This record gives sequence, structure tokens and C-alpha cells, in this order.
Amino acid sequence: MTKWLERASALVGGTAGVLVLAGGLAALPAGPATAAGAAGAAGGSIGAAGALDPRFPTSEADGRNWVAFGRTHEGTHSSPLDQIDRGNVARLGLAWSLDLADVQNGATVPLAVDGVIYLTAGQSLVHAVDARSGRLLWRYDPEVWKVAGRKLRKTWGPRGLAYWDGKLYVGTTDGRLIALDAKTGEPVWSTLTVAPTDAMTITGAPRVFGGLVIIGNGGSEWGPSRGYVTAYDAKTGAQRWRWHVIPGNPADGFENAAMEMAAKTWTGDWWARGGGGQVWNAITYDPELDRVYIGTGNGAPWNQRLRSPDGGDNLFLCSIVALDAKTGEYVWHYQTVPGETWDYNSAMDIALARVEIDGRERRVLLHAPKNGFFYVIDRDTGKLLSAEKFGKVTWASHVDLATGRPVEVPGARYESGPTLVWPSTIGAHNWHPMSWNRWTGLVYIPTLEMPGLFGDASFDRATWRPVPNQLNTGIDGGTSDAPENAGTSALVAWDPLAQRERWRAPTPGFWNGGTMTTAGRLVFQGQADGAFNAYDAETGKKLWSFDAKMGISGAPITYSVNGRQHVSVVAGWGAAGPAYLGSLTAQHGWVARRHPHRLLTFVLDGKAQLPPTPPPGREVPIDDPAFVVDAAKAEAGAQLYAGRCVGCHGLAAVAAGYAPDLRASAVALSAEAFDSVVRQGSMMSRNMPRFEELTPADLETLRHYLRARARESLAAAKAPAAAPAGAVGR
Ligand code: CA
Repeated sequence: MTKWLERASALVGGTAGVLVLAGGLAALPAGPATAAGAAGAAGGSIGAAGALDPRFPTSEADGRNWVAFGRTHEGTHSSPLDQIDRGNVARLGLAWSLDLADVQNGATVPLAVDGVIYLTAGQSLVHAVDARSGRLLWRYDPEVWKVAGRKLRKTWGPRGLAYWDGKLYVGTTDGRLIALDAKTGEPVWSTLTVAPTDAMTITGAPRVFGGLVIIGNGGSEWGPSRGYVTAYDAKTGAQRWRWHVIPGNPADGFENAAMEMAAKTWTGDWWARGGGGQVWNAITYDPELDRVYIGTGNGAPWNQRLRSPDGGDNLFLCSIVALDAKTGEYVWHYQTVPGETWDYNSAMDIALARVEIDGRERRVLLHAPKNGFFYVIDRDTGKLLSAEKFGKVTWASHVDLATGRPVEVPGARYESGPTLVWPSTIGAHNWHPMSWNRWTGLVYIPTLEMPGLFGDASFDRATWRPVPNQLNTGIDGGTSDAPENAGTSALVAWDPLAQRERWRAPTPGFWNGGTMTTAGRLVFQGQADGAFNAYDAETGKKLWSFDAKMGISGAPITYSVNGRQHVSVVAGWGAAGPAYLGSLTAQHGWVARRHPHRLLTFVLDGKAQLPPTPPPGREVPIDDPAFVVDAAKAEAGAQLYAGRCVGCHGLAAVAAGYAPDLRASAVALSAEAFDSVVRQGSMMSRNMPRFEELTPADLETLRHYLRARARESLAAAKAPAAAPAGAVGR
């Protein structure tokens, strides 16, 4: 059985991950058995969640602004605007577009406040754009490359930002949280939320509530790590509270009773072996209960036998934890994956809702984490109300509602040898926002379907220790490319009350954008192939589509300006996920630094045209007939590549839109140029990290690997033996 390894799915989570897939994936069974269009039970009435922080310039009744990552505190990614509806969405057209300079990461969700769009893209480049004209008002560059050091190797910048009281808040890869004056883009304050040398970065959007701004981190797998969230005074940046997700070394004492309780669920010397639990994406403030819910990360390493050798639940990994918003004190938790061992973090979004269940109104939260179950949880108590599979799941048969625990399938922990498990380490749903539409009673989830091959025969449980600043998964894998058809994806409309699928729309490839939904009974989503679509939210019928001429990996927003409803989305491929999946996402033909990243804005009867755009294509590898490949050196280079380069330049050196394809790079042809870029850091200002620890001999092995890969690729494609550097062809 051939297999391939994805060396960086944690990079998908703003952390990295290994995914091992079996070969012959085209023969895998198609999607889950759930019948499309099956009518759910009638369900119940659904109301809005409660009053907003009065300092938010919006409310549930007023969809004028999109003022937070999920529009409001509730994180629903929905809007009460209904000017654009099913009857007129066919008239939706481009109002304007704005090309974003120096941006290779479009995985972002903008904000819109009083006619100004704010967005962060690339390495935390914050943009303010006039929503009427598309004119860039200002841009702020935190110059991440100058301060990030080795953290620059890990991520591509955060997925969004926060707004409050005239200020914007953005996190940087190097771990700074920066407040900007929203009018001018001038920094107001900046604070470092992590230690400069630890594993942690920032990959998510901050959230603001009650005068505080909160941020978590990514990077679980990059060495011993201990996740936490920190709340700062939004005016001054002064730290107000911090809550750790997992316990540290008991010899140092516990910060609070919750950590003391959690320590009883860990075994061995876990603090020296890893840890994890980074809150890299999901943070939702509950204005009714004045609580914050955090979705916590996976274990580090993923393999529990290496992390906590005698088992245990390993609290509070893979959990939703409710914290008191004012003090950060623990209130309750619900753990989706006790004893996590598959990178099934619970960092996917948490949406707040009110629903009627058995004649009683409940305040609930909705959560569809990587592990493939859709959870409805009582917000007041943390009690699980229901959990059902929304995709193919083989690690557990079901969730026992009496105990609240998943019932695992024997062998799924690869305790008896390598095992194929659904979903993969990338999950059945990743960071791409789902949206909750209280007018249709449905949740719209960008779902993923792919198995992972898990095994750990090559690891010695007694002696294993993580390597700082490298990906530590504790799972066996190879280094070959991903087949183009390794996974499938779909937009799934899920009825959370009936816990069943209402409709599904297949999406291209494996990795697509997040969703947004409206009172106009529409759901919007961008795709890997560049299509930006609007569906009838009740039936799933596609009502409108726009060719953005660039893959979309972020999520759209909607807002109104001068009484006119607008829809905006960033078209841009090459963020976490697409960047490293090799042929699996290179299939769409988006080439780094060739295809522009753009902010697109739509209105009814918009008549603007996109500027001329290169068609999709592939970079053509270069051969150098004079270069004699040494097989042993190429193999050593493959291992170096898998540990350091894959996250941006792609599996098996097949790049997918973020960084250049090194098979087609002229830099790699020259030992001097390669040394200048890789070891000396001459392209750091373009976010190419330096690898100062590599020796000239190491670089030589990388060059042999890249030439070997170029030749293999050319032979496979039966392409001409030589082509100009960077040429794009079909
Ligand atoms: Ca992860």
C-alpha cells in the first residue's frame, strides 16, 4: 500500500498536522449515507440571542455593520439584512475590486463598520477600504518578518481582526496583539502575548467584550507547549487575566482549582513531552451570561501514548470551556474528544442560539469540530443535549448522551497497528466558518471528507521527547505527494434540532471557503475554483455565481452603506491548508505571486469588471541536464524538506499558491542564490524565513531533492525538458 504523508495539517490549524492517507483514494466510498434533502423534524421556534454589548455599534435588529469575526458576539456569521434575497440575487454584480499588494494569504474574514471595510491579509497587513468606492484609506504593516524569528516558519498571519470603540485589534504571527486607531491605522498599543522563543504564534482573530480584548494562540505541535487565552484591557493593553488550557508541571503548583482537577486526567511527565490545547480560532462571548466559550486545541504530540503514556482524558484538550468574562475563572467544560490522539481539536467556531427543545426554550451553543460530530450544548450548564455525525466518522460509533462521552471503535487508537480512520487530521470541518441562520433554522457547514492513516510503530514511548520548533506529531508517515482526488468536500445544511442533514451542495476539491447567511434566506460561499456562489438557504438551489478568477479560502460578510446591502469577500488562495497540500490543492491552478489577491464587493445591479487576470495554470518545473542527481543526497533532502519546507512550498515540492514552486525556481539552480535565500535570509522581507541552522551540505541535499522532483514531475507530465523559469502552462 502506498501512502503519503502530509507533514503539516497543524499548519491548517495555524498549527501543523500530519495526515497519512492510504493510496488508491479515488476508490474510497463517496460521502456519508445521509440523504440529501431529507426533511428534518419540524424542530421548534428559534429566537435571537440576547442583547449585545452596548458599545458594539450594531445589534441583531440592525445589520448595518459586520463588527466582529462572526458579525456579532454570537459568532453566527449571519445577518438580518434581506434587501438581497432569493428573488433578486441574480442581479447581484461586482461594485468594485481592490488588488491587495504583497499578500499571499487570503484566508480571512473582513469587518465593515460605518462604511469602511477592515481586513487583515498576509502577514497581518491591516487594510482600511472605503466600502463605497473601493479606495484604500490606509494600510498598516506590523513588519512581522523583522521580529518573528523562527515563528515566521509556522504560519501565514491571522484570519481576522476585532473592532471596538474606534480601535482595531490584530494579532501577528510573532505573537503580538496590536491596537490600531481605526481612522488612521496608527498603533495605539502593542503587547507580546507569547514568549519570543516558545512554540506559539497567533493565527486567529481577537474578540472584544466588556472593555476587554481576548486572544489565544496556535502552534501546539511545535515543541513542548501549553495553550492559554489572555484578556487585555482594550484601551490600554494591560493584561487582565490569563487562563491556561492544560496543567503544567505539578511541582510548580497549580494556577487554580481547574488546573488541579485537570492534572488528575494526565499521566507520566506530560509537561516535558508536549501538551497542546492552543485556542487558535474559536472564542465566543455570551452577552446573556457574561461568559466566554473557548474551543481548545489538540494534544501535542497528537499521539496520546507519547504524550500521556498511561492514558487519561487530558483535560482541557479538545473541549469547549466556559469562563467568566470578567475574571477568566472556569465555569464548566464539555470535552468532545477525551484522550485525544488524532489531532481532532475543538477549535472550530462556536455559534450561540436560542432554540426550543421539548417545549422549553434553551440557550445553546452549536459546534461542529474536526471530529465529525455536530454538538448542541446547553450554555447555562454545559450539558450535552445532542450529538450526531455530520460526515463520515469511524473513530467512534456514537456519543452516549447519558455520559456525554463518545463511544470509541476498537482499534481506532491505532493501538493494534496502523489504521485508516475517518476523518483525517484535517477534520470533517476545519476553521472555515459555519453560519447559523435563525430564519431557516439551519447551520451551513463547509465539510471535508478524507481519512487518515494512523500508526506509531517507529516511536519509542519511553524515550520520545519533542523537538522544539519542529512539527511533533508522534505519528508515522511518508513524504510522497497527495493525489489530486484524495478528498471531497461539500456545503452541508444541517438542522441542529433534528440533528440531520437537510441538503448538500458538492464543492470542488477538498478545501473551500467559509459561509455567510442572511435573513434574505441566502447562503454565500466561495470555492477553491474561484466560484463565489449564493444558494437558496432552504433548498440548496444555486441561485447566483461569480467567477472571481482566484480560489477563495476566506469567508464573506454583508453590511449596508447608505441603505444599500453590500457583500464582500477576499478572493485569495494559498493560506494555511492549501499551501502545503501538494497536488491536492495545486489542482486548481493558482500560482503564488502570479494570481492577485483581491477584495471583491457586490451590490444589486453592480456593473464593474475584474481587471485582466491570468488564467489558472501550473508552474512548469525546470530541468538542468548538467545537474547529476545523487539519490542518497536527494533522499536526505526529502527528509529536510518534509520537516521545514512543506508548510509553504507544498507536499513533494508541489506548491499550491502560497509560496513559489521550488521545482520551477531558478534560485534552487544556483548554490549561491539558494544559500543566500535559505540560510542567509535575503528574502525575509517577502516572508521567506531563514534557516540559519542548515549547513551548506544540508542545502546541497535539498537542491538534489528539488532537481530530482523536477525531473520526476517533467517525466510524469511528458512535458518539454526545459522551460523558462516560472512559466505557467496548462
Ligand atoms: Ca492541530
